[in-house]
Amino acid sequence: MKNIMFIAPPAAGKGTQAELVVEKYGIPHISTGNILREISKEDSEIGKYVQETLASGKLVKDDITYQLIEERLKKEDCQNGYIIDGFPRNIEQAYEYDKILKRLGYEVGNVIYINVDKNILEKRITGRRICENCNTIYNINDENNSPQVESICDNCGGKLYQRSDDNLEAFETRYQMYEEKTQPIIDYYKKKNVLIEIDGNDSVENIFVKIDNAIKE
Ligand code: AMP
Repeated sequence: MKNIMFIAPPAAGKGTQAELVVEKYGIPHISTGNILREISKEDSEIGKYVQETLASGKLVKDDITYQLIEERLKKEDCQNGYIIDGFPRNIEQAYEYDKILKRLGYEVGNVIYINVDKNILEKRITGRRICENCNTIYNINDENNSPQVESICDNCGGKLYQRSDDNLEAFETRYQMYEEKTQPIIDYYKKKNVLIEIDGNDSVENIFVKIDNAIKE
């Protein structure tokens, strides 16, 4: 299967859609946000730096992301395809990703751009809850996507938490970062003829049908 990259504004549902692709196709989901959230729990200088940067909504230094992404993509489970989400996040990272792909002998594959209006993202951001155990994502502002019991994961019974950057203030910074830094990479992949745009102003199920049709081809 071709590799898949997700590009989308914050809270567009990238993580949820990636998990649906994982379920259906069994390829690994590589999310720089998830990897960085794990690092932020470490009691070290880098752990502290990552924790503070994530909470502010700004981007972590490029060098840190290059190292962790190449290490992860080298692993055996990525040899037959993977979904990458959250990287690249600016044009410099896109150039570096080309070099990493070349070194590993991989292709960029399908680049899925999920486009969602800002007013919808604002509503989603405050409702997102994540299972601390299995990472399942819920949204308490969406009745089709709420947990059955408040704060408890339907899948595994784990506790749900809210991300430190899922508040309106950090969202503004993250959205601004996205507009400034991530939009140019959309043009970059459009020129390479690998970009597939998906209208994300829709239900989780409908968005997945559109993504699935695009990656099946
Ligand atoms: P996400 O889970 O993709 O929304 O990412 C959460 C946060 O992790 C972002 O707001 C950034 O602070 C950081 N982050 C994730 N991916 C990257 C990246 N490729 N480069 C720099 N920072 C990143």
